[in-house]
Amino acid sequence: MDSSQWIDVTTEKNHYSLDHFVIPTHYEQDVSSILIPHGVIMDRVNKLARLIVEEATGPLVVCCILKGGHQYFADLVNAVKKLTNKDGKTIPLSLEFIRVKSYKNDKSEGVTMSITDEECNEFKGKNLLIVEDIIDTGATMVQLLKKLETFSPKSVKVTSLLIKKTPKSNGYIPDYVGFSIPDEFVVGYALDYNEYFRDLDHICVISEHGKKAYAV
Ligand code: 5GP
Repeated sequence: MDSSQWIDVTTEKNHYSLDHFVIPTHYEQDVSSILIPHGVIMDRVNKLARLIVEEATGPLVVCCILKGGHQYFADLVNAVKKLTNKDGKTIPLSLEFIRVKSYKNDKSEGVTMSITDEECNEFKGKNLLIVEDIIDTGATMVQLLKKLETFSPKSVKVTSLLIKKTPKSNGYIPDYVGFSIPDEFVVGYALDYNEYFRDLDHICVISEHGKKAYAV
């Protein structure tokens, strides 16, 4: 997918005032603006589901990258289930949940996955769809893809709801992107800050107050 196909919410005018939507009272001080209201997220998820199904040729193993990807994964799978491809066929889905941690040291960069090599061997010959919440530098996804390729899947496609416009990007772009966002820390719709804000529906920019309140 090239950048003309995703929604750019990187400019100042894309931020909504907190007064215009309902924010849980326990987070009123902790976010500075609403970047993507929940309803817009849901409408975009429906379109991404349609694009994915149109291009799907057979069964998909849909892999949820935990924890941040779970809300997008749940809504996307729900939408995909209701759609048919260009031959009028629904797409058989199986679901996989992977917790991914990236690590860095002087010599190597890489990822550890919560599923075993034995479980990954099940990916052999399958069409994988990786569902991620956000691509920031792209480092985690590049390393994850490298690791998954070693298990010989038939194909691997990636969808990320968000991609951050940042000079730190390694240039990686997923196959299906929802929105490009500014280089700010966002929370909500399952994206967290130290495990907080997963219970916020809109995607919001965290405030200085919020960063302090939930610092560890
Ligand atoms: P990358 O390897 O692309 O730099 O980082 C990807 C991971 O960093 C994401 O899966 C997510 O966990 C975390 N991340 C990056 N930017 C944000 C952000 O703005 N908000 C939240 N909640 N997590 C982020």
